Amino acid sequence: MSGPNTDYDPVEVTPLRADEVDAMRERALAAIAGAGDLDELKAVRLAHAGERSPLALANREIGALPPQAKKEAGMRVGQARGAVSKALAERQQVLQTEHEARMLVEEAVDVTVPWDREQQGARHPLTTIQELIGDVFVAMGWEVAEGPEVEAEWLNFDALNLGPDHPARTMQDTFWLEPADGGLVLRTHTSPVQARTMITQEPPVYVVVPGRVYRTDELDATHTPVFHQVEGLVVDKGISMAHLKGTLDHFAEAMFGEGITTRFRPSYFPFTEPSAEVDLVCFVCRGSGTAEDGASDCRTCKGEGWIEWGGCGVVNPRVLTACGIDPETYSGFAFGMGLERTLMFRHGIEDMRDIVEGDVRFTLPFGMEI
Ligand SMILES: [Zn+2]
Repeated sequence: MSGPNTDYDPVEVTPLRADEVDAMRERALAAIAGAGDLDELKAVRLAHAGERSPLALANREIGALPPQAKKEAGMRVGQARGAVSKALAERQQVLQTEHEARMLVEEAVDVTVPWDREQQGARHPLTTIQELIGDVFVAMGWEVAEGPEVEAEWLNFDALNLGPDHPARTMQDTFWLEPADGGLVLRTHTSPVQARTMITQEPPVYVVVPGRVYRTDELDATHTPVFHQVEGLVVDKGISMAHLKGTLDHFAEAMFGEGITTRFRPSYFPFTEPSAEVDLVCFVCRGSGTAEDGASDCRTCKGEGWIEWGGCGVVNPRVLTACGIDPETYSGFAFGMGLERTLMFRHGIEDMRDIVEGDVRFTLPFGMEI
């Protein structure tokens, strides 16, 4: 039986040689530093600190050393393993932080990034309000009528009792088509559609006529040379001003809400007799004429409690006769409003140029509904 092998030279146990342990440690530290993400670090941990790693295997060899060699080898391997373990923990911390920062960036939604979806168009509010008005009257059993924008002078003027010397026939108001004696104009109102309807249709007539009209006005905040009107015409037996008033009250409430009714002021139009201006109850102060503060005048109606909306009247018998209808049997009423004005009232639009300039930033908010 031999004693402890005091001659055992630890240098001969290769994995425990100082330079070998240092090399294992350096390879481990280099691999840890080189791990680019948490997955790579996991593999490095297994290779350099796992049960089958060189340092773990070296640690197992220590038990075979003579006592005097165990301490030195144990310290060397223990320090190396400690250094590797510390480096792993530090690298883990760094990579974890980087990972979280990257997730925050990658998963963030940048609401300012330009989108590549196609812009959706929106219908112009003038188109939608024409259809809305059409719906109001169709619901009462009326028809929607249309006519040409290039119109015969006779239908635009003469048939409507606008004689040759009427101011509206002068060059200031009307666009005339060439040749000058051709008798064609850009219609100055939707009223020629009234004449066209009466000429082609036997009474009873109940039509509403929305459409584009032209006058030689300069474009400013309240005028445009191209604008829109809505015209209404009824021809039937026993029609009176009372029917007109009831119809316009209903129309006003449909446009501006309950309680917004109309009043008539005496006026003159060649195509109606009697004629009246139509005012609306101010939809801002609801007729009180007073602003919200209770002291100053309402700005919308300037303290009047009413705002001007359009014109109306009982159809002049001369117009009925010109269109082949016997005024002894039939009577009728007619009215007309500016659509731009109606739209401006309805939506608080202050400058008419916004309506005609075609900027989608104006029309888009009207895209879904008016
Ligand atoms: Zn008012």
